[in-house]
Order: sequence, then C-alpha cells, then structure tokens
Amino acid sequence: MKLCVLGAGITGVTSAYMLAKNGHDVTVIDRQDGAAKECSFANGGQLSYSHAEPWANPYVFPKLWKWMWQEDAPLVLRFSLDPHMIRWGTLFLMNCLPARARRHAEVHLRLGLYSKRIMERMIEETAIDFGYLNKGILHVFSDQKTYDHACNHAEFQASLGCHETVLNRSQMLEMEPSLTHARDNLVGGIHASIDASGDIHVFTQKLAALCAEKYGVKFVYGRTIKALHQAEGRISHIETDQGYDSSFDGYVMSLGAHSAVLLRTIGMYVPIYPMKGYSITFDATPDTPTLSITDAARKIVYSRLGNKVRVAGTAEFAGYNDTIRPYRVGAIVRGVEQLFPKAPVASRSEWACLRPSTPDGPPMLGTTPFANLYMNTGHGTLGWTQAAGSAAILADVVEGKSPEIPLTGLMTQRNLIRL
Ligand SMILES: Cc1cc2nc3c(=O)[nH]c(=O)nc-3n(C[C@H](O)[C@H](O)[C@H](O)COP(=O)(O)OP(=O)(O)OC[C@H]3O[C@@H](n4cnc5c(N)ncnc54)[C@H](O)[C@@H]3O)c2cc1C
Repeated sequence: MKLCVLGAGITGVTSAYMLAKNGHDVTVIDRQDGAAKECSFANGGQLSYSHAEPWANPYVFPKLWKWMWQEDAPLVLRFSLDPHMIRWGTLFLMNCLPARARRHAEVHLRLGLYSKRIMERMIEETAIDFGYLNKGILHVFSDQKTYDHACNHAEFQASLGCHETVLNRSQMLEMEPSLTHARDNLVGGIHASIDASGDIHVFTQKLAALCAEKYGVKFVYGRTIKALHQAEGRISHIETDQGYDSSFDGYVMSLGAHSAVLLRTIGMYVPIYPMKGYSITFDATPDTPTLSITDAARKIVYSRLGNKVRVAGTAEFAGYNDTIRPYRVGAIVRGVEQLFPKAPVASRSEWACLRPSTPDGPPMLGTTPFANLYMNTGHGTLGWTQAAGSAAILADVVEGKSPEIPLTGLMTQRNLIRL
C-alpha cells in the first residue's frame, strides 16, 4: 500500500520504520525542516517501561486545587473557556477515581513491557547509537508519604509481573553517590531495573535516515497539513500549504499535540490536549547523576545523555502555546539545586514543548471510523517509552493482524468514563 504518515516525531518515524519493513511504500510529511523538532526534541530521555501510574490518579486529585494557585506546581490545571480544555479537564478529573487509575496503570504496564521488548529488538537490528543507558531508573523520595505510596504501588506492579527494588537511604546513595549532598533531605528510593534512557532526538533522526536509506521511505519536510478530507467513510485526500494530495491509500495520524486539531477537520473529536512541559540541559560533572533518576514529589526526571544531563518535567495547560515561562523553568532549576547543589545549572539551555495528552493516560492506537485512517498518537508523558510497541501495534493493525498484546484501553473509540 502507498501510506502517508502525518508527523515526523518519534511516533511517526517508528511507524514509518515498521510499515516500510512490512513492504509498504511510505511517505512521511512534517512542517519542520527535519525529524523530531517538536515534542521529540529535548524530552526527559527516560525509557520508563515500568512507569505505570497515570497522571490522573487519586493521589494527584486532592493536590490539584492547591497546585492551581501555585505558579511553580508540578501540574497546573487552570480554569479555561476553551471547550476542548473543559471537556479534557472534566474527563481527567473523572479518571482520577481509584478503579480507573488502576485500570490505566495496567494498560500502561502492558504497553510499556511490550515496548521494551520491541525497542530492544529495534536497537539490535538498527545498531543506532543514541546514548542508550540500560541501567534502570532510580526513583528518589524526599517525603515519607510519597515514599510509602510508591512502595504500595511497587507491590501492585509486582502483582502484575513488574518487580522493582525498594532501597533504604544508604542503599540508594550507594547506587547513586552524587546524591550524597542531598542525603539529609531523602528518605529512600526504588530502583526499576528494567528501565533505561537515551536521546530521543538523536534516535529519531538516525532512524529517519535509516528508513530513507534502507527502506526508501520519503520524507517531505517543510509542509504543513491544513486539513484532512473524507468521502464515503475514507480519507479522500489531504490539504497542505502546498496543495492537495490524493495519491495515498492510507494515512497514519502522528501529529502529536496537533492530532486533535487536524482530526476535527473530518468531524472526529478526540480528547488529546497539549500539556506543556519543560527541560533544561547542562554539562555532566562528577557532582551530577550517572543514572536516570526520577524525583517523585517534584515530578522531575533526570537522564545522563553522554556528557550532558537532561532534566525535565512539570505539566501546565496553556493551550497551544509553547513559549518558555521563566517561573516554570525556575521550578526545575530549584529541584536540581535541592538534589544536586553543585550541578552547573547556570550554563543550561532551556526548552518547552507540548505533550499530546489523553485524559486517562494511554495513547490512541489502531483503527478509526475512517477505513483508511489509523492512529498512533496521544502518548502524553510516555511517548518515548511507548513508541516502539505502539508502532509495532500500528503495523499489525494496518496488516489486518491481531496485535501481540490486547488493544483494550488503547483504542481511539474507548469509553473514557467506564467504571
Ligand atoms: C518536558 C517533556 C519531557 C518528557 N519526558 C519524557 C520521558 O522522559 N520519557 C518519555 O517516554 N516521554 C517523555 N515525554 C513525552 C514524549 O516526548 C512525547 O510523548 C513524544 O515526543 C510525542 O511524540 P509524537 O511523535 O507524538 O509528537 P511530536 O514529536 O510532537 O511529533 C509530531 C510531529 O508532527 C508535526 N506536525 C504537527 N502539526 C503539523 C501540521 N499541521 N503539519 C505538518 N506537521 C505537523 C510536528 O512538526 C512534529 O514533528 C516528555 C515530553 C516533554 C514535553
């Protein structure tokens, strides 16, 4: 089939790779001048396959009101007159119910563990060098309540076959000595040994180059998609800033946070909304982490990417606005100063982008009401982690095969308010 992948972020490029390997004639279209220039550019770098807890959960719910008035809070959900934000926010609050959060954690874990398997296969078959660090992720805790909750969650994950190691403070410091300066502020840690980290931008760019060279995938950059058009239950053509194109048999939606906007042009309303996040990058020194770390309370993640350290996090709803707000960056910088007081944050580079987030957490994969339109989008905070598995699922669905893992909780037309 002649297939068009819309978007050259991590989800679009991994989709193109899987589809081209299956023998399809693939074209990828993106408005940027290269692959991975938007949300897949400078993210937290974590391949957190074992990270199952969705943002919408009963422990976040009571904090939302307090965070709403706090400019540097980890998650800022604000009142808005945007009907799409109101719908998304309402669904998010409803998905904080314990039974739903538990079900979505199971979906995340299913997709995460599958993605690990597929990603390891891709790393082996492509031999792409992207600063891959396969040493797990260390979750560190500065307050007893969050630590206790995480230990309970680790037990829940163990019941689903994903084991993590609970560490006391000295075991944690032994694993990551650069935390020594913060020892008095830390209560303990959890090590997720199956997790890893690496540079999403480097990986996506190299995979795009490999797709072009080895499988003949065509990349059309600098072209903005304005609308999709449909007729008789199919996408008939796409409209771009350089004209119409009706030459494709099928389409894959991977436009990140902009997916929902383009889907509305064919009357499809999906609750994918931009959740802004920030990152800073600075030089690694002997006083900065060697492992990938998650600071659970502040919702900040660290990854060692070669001779750099990337620190990312926080979530803010600001519509489709990706400008960098100094006080949001300040929250990350203060987080670094607490854990790694000697880190050279003054010489940092800063970045902000929009995560394509669903209100329940998991992405939207597979078929749509339009026979030749497929979804691989809406991965929110876990797009790098879940990209490989999502692309493999997408490729199976396009072939008309059953994916290797059940699609329950991952389909576009799922019930977002089922108890
Ligand atoms: C601060 C931050 C930290 C993060 N940390 C992690 C992490 O540690 N681990 C993890 O797993 N995930 C993390 N994520 C999430 C992850 O980065 C995203 O889920 C992922 O990059 C989304 O990929 P995508 O391909 O869906 O979207 P994108 O990478 O945004 O790709 C979409 C593409 O579509 C193109 N596009 C959009 N609109 C149009 C249009 N109209 N016409 C043509 N082209 C268009 C864009 O140019 C872009 O290239 C983080 C995100 C942020 C913001």
